[in-house]
Amino acid sequence: AKVELVGLIKSAIRSISMAFERTVNFNYYQAEVFYPADESQLNQLIYILLDNARKYSENQIDLTLTEQDQQLIITVTDYGEGIPEEDRTQIFNRFYRVDRARNRKTGGTGLGLTIAKAIVVAHSGEIEVMSELGKGTTFRVILPK
Ligand code: ATP
Repeated sequence: AKVELVGLIKSAIRSISMAFERTVNFNYYQAEVFYPADESQLNQLIYILLDNARKYSENQIDLTLTEQDQQLIITVTDYGEGIPEEDRTQIFNRFYRVDRARNRKTGGTGLGLTIAKAIVVAHSGEIEVMSELGKGTTFRVILPK
């Protein structure tokens, strides 16, 4: 089945902004983007990335949807604490949490990114992380069209 991604992302943003009073800026390249995927899995993917962005940062969150070389690219950027380099390869593993996150009041099980990665892989895509300590983090999801 085809999923309309702009609407799906907007409604995920609405849930996060209402529940946590956070602003998410969304930039997209056309009004409607249809993509063959499992709708509830894509919802969950976007929700996990947005929920992490709001848990590990305090200010604005930026989300982009672009198209490049027959691929859809989704980025979620926050301007929060960042992820230490030595942890970046491990955050996609089950139950892995960076030390700072283990002790903070915002709880979590360390499963979110494991699920996110499984969803991306199930759609033959890739997920990457770019981060700078103390400056912020971008997760980039690349989905083949
Ligand atoms: P949950 O399973 O409830 O999402 P979680 O957020 O701890 O809990 P993951 O989503 O798998 O689990 O993330 C793993 C770890 O990666 C987090 O504990 C946190 O340390 C780090 N992390 C994830 N996203 C970010 C982010 N945007 N900024 C900083 N650290 C992050």
